[in-house]
Amino acid sequence: MGIATVNPATGELVKSFDALTDEEIEVCLETAAKASVSYRYLPMEKKSEWMNRAADILERDAKRFAKIMTLEMGKPIKGAIAEVKKSAWVCRFYAEKAAEFLADLPAESDASRSFVRYQPIGPVLAVMPWNFPFWQVFRFAAPALMAGNVGLLKHASNVPQCALAVAEIFREAGFPEGAFQTLLVGASQVAQIVADDRIKAATLTGSEPAGASLAAQAGKNLKKTVLELGGSDPFIVLESADLEAAVETAVTARMLNNGQSCIAAKRFILDEAIAGEFQQKLVEKFQALKVGDPMLPDTDVGPLATPGILEDIDKQVQACRAKGAKALTGGQRLSDRPGNFYPPTILADIPRGTPAYEEEFFGPVALLFRVRGIDEAIELANSTSFGLGASAWTTDAAEQDRLTLELEAGAVFINGLVKSDPRLPFGGIKRSGYGRELSIQGIHEFVNVKTVWIK
Ligand code: NAP
Repeated sequence: MGIATVNPATGELVKSFDALTDEEIEVCLETAAKASVSYRYLPMEKKSEWMNRAADILERDAKRFAKIMTLEMGKPIKGAIAEVKKSAWVCRFYAEKAAEFLADLPAESDASRSFVRYQPIGPVLAVMPWNFPFWQVFRFAAPALMAGNVGLLKHASNVPQCALAVAEIFREAGFPEGAFQTLLVGASQVAQIVADDRIKAATLTGSEPAGASLAAQAGKNLKKTVLELGGSDPFIVLESADLEAAVETAVTARMLNNGQSCIAAKRFILDEAIAGEFQQKLVEKFQALKVGDPMLPDTDVGPLATPGILEDIDKQVQACRAKGAKALTGGQRLSDRPGNFYPPTILADIPRGTPAYEEEFFGPVALLFRVRGIDEAIELANSTSFGLGASAWTTDAAEQDRLTLELEAGAVFINGLVKSDPRLPFGGIKRSGYGRELSIQGIHEFVNVKTVWIK
């Protein structure tokens, strides 16, 4: 399809864009390199002022930006508005905290004075996915720009208008030319950009193959990368859990963004003691969800972002069913309408050897598993190649301790939804990637941690 806006609710091609030529990419790289020289030494107060202004613009035009997102990738409009506001939050957070996070850090040594100083490294390339087209970009850009780096964005090919809108926000906020640029390029053009000497580091949020490809190219050129990749997060419910709260949260945890979130709960691991009741309540709640036009404020579940994603999730569901998994609700494509709609689906009695045990399900499909007690729950939760987030429900303090200690994940949330928050680090282990975004750890990823020793 190339770089284009295609409405996922109708399949209609709204607008297509030409990818930048090699000559145009060269101009962008040169602009970034030149901007970096002066931008890196600008006072923190100036950068904070611009970053706060970016937040003002996001809040001022939240509805307009939200509509662009919903048009391009189909998330329900209420979620899109919330995403724009959260993007404003991360801008304000780093506008306020960057000075503290990047302050010189005294360290004792044999010098008369020694300390650690954090300095920018230069132009950083961000390759971003379509699922949170604003949030993903701002959570990279806010710390990167506050640290004195300049940013170049290669956004997913199906959200070009989001990509252009974000660059426009930074321009209107007052950031100098070249501090943040959107490059409309396809995935095949990324390698040459990563290899260019003027790019100092790269980050990618997306699938494992894309991450591996970017990291290989960066490795060849000795450049640092941060990778935020897929997940198959467990949602564990043990006997003592507050079942009402767990079920309520389970619906949001699986359905947010039409099920297309890296930290969505994908595998529901239920203690036998409560599994029947949990399952029954979950089916009722899934069946009550309103599937439809994502532009309507009362829609819960919109279309999947692309026909390819619809194909993939349906193939995974059918592969599980063919081997004996039961669909408690949903389980078939909705053929009564255009667009990439898939119904909220729950699979149970899933046999081993099906994709449910190995793969990420990127859509509105909950996978239910029954276990006997915490040992089996932890074992099943950890038996995947991913390690992004984990949500676990129990009121037993000893169980809470074990879960926070033994779950193999970048984040464990007890009695709550796994979520990103500017104040907390975010990232994965195992095949979910490496490095961290957000919080103090996020801003330290793309800086020169300089040792200063003075006698
Ligand atoms: P994707 O196909 O990997 O695309 C992500 C980005 O990478 C897009 O900009 C894409 O460009 C680009 N890309 C694809 N192949 C590439 C390559 N070989 N070299 C360089 N760039 C390449 O992922 P997706 O299907 O859009 O996104 C869903 C995945 O992202 C899921 O696995 C999800 O879990 C993960 N995700 C992770 C996080 C996290 O924080 N851990 C957050 C959100 C999503 P084109 O669009 O031009 O192909």
